[in-house]
Amino acid sequence: MKNYYQPEIETMPLEQLQALQSERLVKQVKHVYEHVPFYRGRMDEAGVKPEDIKGIEDLPKLPFITKDDLRDQYPYGLLAVPLEDCVRIQSTSGTTGRRVVAFYTMEDINIWDECCARAIVAAGGTKEDVCHVCYGYGLFTGGPGLNGGSHKVGCLTLPMSSGNTERQIQFMTDLGSTILCCTPSYAANLAESINEKGLRDQIKLKAGIFGAEPWTEEMRHNIEEALGIKAYDIYGLTEIAGPGVSFECEEQAGMHIQEDHFIPEIIDPDTGEVLPEGEVGELVFTCITKKAFPLLRYRTRDLCYLTRKKCSCGRTHIRMHKPTGRSDDMLIVKGVNVFPSQIETVLLNQGYQANYQIVVDRVGNNDTIEVQVELTPEMAADTSVSVAEREKKVVTGLKSMLGIKVDVSVVEPKTIVRSDGKAVRVVDKRNLYQ
Ligand code: ADP
Ligand code: ZN
Repeated sequence: MKNYYQPEIETMPLEQLQALQSERLVKQVKHVYEHVPFYRGRMDEAGVKPEDIKGIEDLPKLPFITKDDLRDQYPYGLLAVPLEDCVRIQSTSGTTGRRVVAFYTMEDINIWDECCARAIVAAGGTKEDVCHVCYGYGLFTGGPGLNGGSHKVGCLTLPMSSGNTERQIQFMTDLGSTILCCTPSYAANLAESINEKGLRDQIKLKAGIFGAEPWTEEMRHNIEEALGIKAYDIYGLTEIAGPGVSFECEEQAGMHIQEDHFIPEIIDPDTGEVLPEGEVGELVFTCITKKAFPLLRYRTRDLCYLTRKKCSCGRTHIRMHKPTGRSDDMLIVKGVNVFPSQIETVLLNQGYQANYQIVVDRVGNNDTIEVQVELTPEMAADTSVSVAEREKKVVTGLKSMLGIKVDVSVVEPKTIVRSDGKAVRVVDKRNLYQ
């Protein structure tokens, strides 16, 4: 057996694991029914009482929760403990229309840190490692999650946050970073700079823990080659905890879901029916240990499949295949969640009509996003405002809505191709899902 962080949990026999899940689920359902009027209302509507949930086999009786519910209940509607028991919030990437704020008690933070610690150990991390965290710190869960996990493992933690590639590389070489945690796109960027500077033989990296956005096997291979490391995938979402909900082991064949904390289900996104193991559908999570913001049957919109096939690492927790797409139209651009509807809101607020197209691409390792929008005939007739001024105004509006820079081209009326059926608003040339 390898140096597992918590072998007694991660290699628990299935029967024992399911008994633990059942016990925790029953407690959790009572907790939310008693403390969250929203849940009580939903369960009453569905005709389910807490005592109807006797174990994990009863999970499908509970109603689903969606991102829209979270938005409607913003900020405190789903809080299940008194605010004074909370010690932290995190939030999904800087959006106004779709903001989600998740609350954590100290114990919730501990659970999350523990999941991230397990991920670091699964990537070969020990207290001897120097863990270089360049996920963003702040409201984004990436930095704080891996930071907490690294502390738990006892690594020397470098809380670098994102950006400033020069400084990243300097610390990496001076302090001998051995584990790199960041988005795969940033890892590819760093790899490129390191090789351009001829510093490859001065870095001591052995592993990378990369996630928060989809990436391909090809990209994994390129990063592994360029940095001479083993690159591990890690998955998570703010609503459920943050990174560490699932992660890869040395097999690099699917991510083990931390089932003692989160129960996964795969459903048909159209009917909500639970699908058998191995079928692709929408991933749904139920938090069975978190107290402040415990979502039950939360629809992630990520499409994937699960497998209980025995893993050579010894872990018994179920594995999820990397997401193969989304059942909504959310894009992840430069690590930020972008909904086309947010872009449309900005355009309509500035007087445009819904004749626009969003083109996402990747140049080198960097995402690009361009919005092309048509002038209305009235705008075209009004020569007092130049096209450049209009473009600048849209860029500013989009920056404040999305938090990222979007290239904008304002084009003549009737230049955007009209579709016969559903408008093609998004052209994503990156092919990130396999
Ligand atoms: P995070 O901070 O964990 O990225 P967000 O809440 O901003 O959380 O975004 C979560 C979404 O990011 C997920 O629902 C999923 O679509 C995507 N995501 C996170 N990790 C991965 C991954 N390893 N592979 C593919 N998509 C991922
Ligand atoms: Zn494994």
